[in-house]
Amino acid sequence: MTMLTEAQVWKALEAVPDPEIPVISVAELGIVREVQVQGGAVRVVVTPTYSGCPATEVIGEDIRAALVRAGATTVDLEWRLAPPWTTDWIGEAASEKLRAYGIAPPGERAASATQPLRFVSRRIACPKCGSNETERVSEFGSTACKALYRCRACLEPFDYFKPI
Ligand SMILES: [Zn+2]
Repeated sequence: MTMLTEAQVWKALEAVPDPEIPVISVAELGIVREVQVQGGAVRVVVTPTYSGCPATEVIGEDIRAALVRAGATTVDLEWRLAPPWTTDWIGEAASEKLRAYGIAPPGERAASATQPLRFVSRRIACPKCGSNETERVSEFGSTACKALYRCRACLEPFDYFKPI
């Protein structure tokens, strides 16, 4: 009989890349909320990132396949929509990986809806040269969850992972 440990399950999840940003895993993205293991039966609670994100289905299949490879006999995958996923759940190590990949990691969310100006005036540092002299080119980058920015120092365009 298969006996998986919770640590083994997390290790397997750390090897499942996010379909849109392959340098970070679904575990690092913070979408895996709970893991329960009983013998070979694994139950995973996952909160999707952006609602309606086409990658959601792929993520579910990838998680299932990875856990079966790790030795799970059954995988019970639960999608939990509340509380909604926030970019605050992305770990510090993952933020560094995003930067290395050329994507500016999400900043902190606006403290409240009553302070939109403060949020808008935030400077997004260029992931390539670190300059704060950047400008937003478009609200949407390569995917809806990213905005397109350009660095005035090195002139390189880059994606900014929008905080939600
Ligand atoms: Zn730059």
